[in-house]
Amino acid sequence: MDDDYKALTQDIRQQLLAVGHADAEQYSTILMQGSGSFGVESVLQTAVPNRKGRGTLLIAINGAYGQRMAEMADHLAIDYLAIDFGETEPANADVILEALTQHPEITHFAMVHCETTTGLLNDLSVIPMLNALGVVTIVDAMSSFGGVPINIDELHVDYLISSANKCIQGVPGFAFVIANRETLMQTAGNATSLSLDLYEQWRSFEDYAGKWRFTSPTHTVYAFHQALHELQQEGGVTARFERYQDNQARLRLGMRALGFDPLLPETLQSPIITSFKYPTPDFDFMAFYRALKDQGFIIYPGKIAAIDSFRIGNIGEVYAGDISRC
Ligand SMILES: *Cc1c(COP(=O)(O)O)cnc(C)c1O
Repeated sequence: MDDDYKALTQDIRQQLLAVGHADAEQYSTILMQGSGSFGVESVLQTAVPNRKGRGTLLIAINGAYGQRMAEMADHLAIDYLAIDFGETEPANADVILEALTQHPEITHFAMVHCETTTGLLNDLSVIPMLNALGVVTIVDAMSSFGGVPINIDELHVDYLISSANKCIQGVPGFAFVIANRETLMQTAGNATSLSLDLYEQWRSFEDYAGKWRFTSPTHTVYAFHQALHELQQEGGVTARFERYQDNQARLRLGMRALGFDPLLPETLQSPIITSFKYPTPDFDFMAFYRALKDQGFIIYPGKIAAIDSFRIGNIGEVYAGDISRC
């Protein structure tokens, strides 16, 4: 494979460590072809042994993406327990720690940072506590990494997952995992899938100076390198976080003025995506959607069952003027 391309890949791997404040001695980046879910599934099946000896995974759920991890565990025949906090409640550290006391068989823990289902931002402070107790931790930071400050060294997280096309503002095509080297070292042979074997994928990048194991999404990788450059130009994660926060606050205020109430209290709200309740029981979401699309704005339907709602995202190349126009 081309040396320039391998060097570009290595540079991306290094830059992602810097974005996440991860020490390069302790952590390593693995890129994985596919959408974000491919990255999550590769982590679950490589991290949790379910052939030679078994592990037990605890999953904190408060939306569709936590739920998806449970679905993956089902497919992968991983032993797991789930705590469902409900879609409008944050993951609660005390409840998680209590579950650990009740179930000493738990070896691994997984949670979502920003639950894109609603826009709820979970507190990650339980992660270092679990690490201190010897539990291997997995964080789906898909829709927060690069847009919300995360300090991996302080979190002591074992696996943090995100993808090219969320807050780094690249285009879709691959996911990435920032993993603790020591933890990863112990996972050889765990994976039951060949192509989603995170350990083997890591070995290829490490042993062959940035070589992807199978065909990589080259155009996406080049675009991602440019996206990282643009993140730096903007002033890094802090500056991007501030822009997203400003976007979200502007959106929230403007929507309130138009009679749309947010689903979540401000204290739980991430700066990424916001759920709004239908203003009236007979609200015609499809007509609303089409009218906005005609003006150049694509929004999302709601993703929760209990309350009729829709969502508006404000990440990407989106600025105050765009929000005001919307
Ligand atoms: C986007 C996202 C994913 C991955 O979804 P894909 O459609 O597979 O890219 C996973 N978790 C969260 C929280 C997300 O926002």
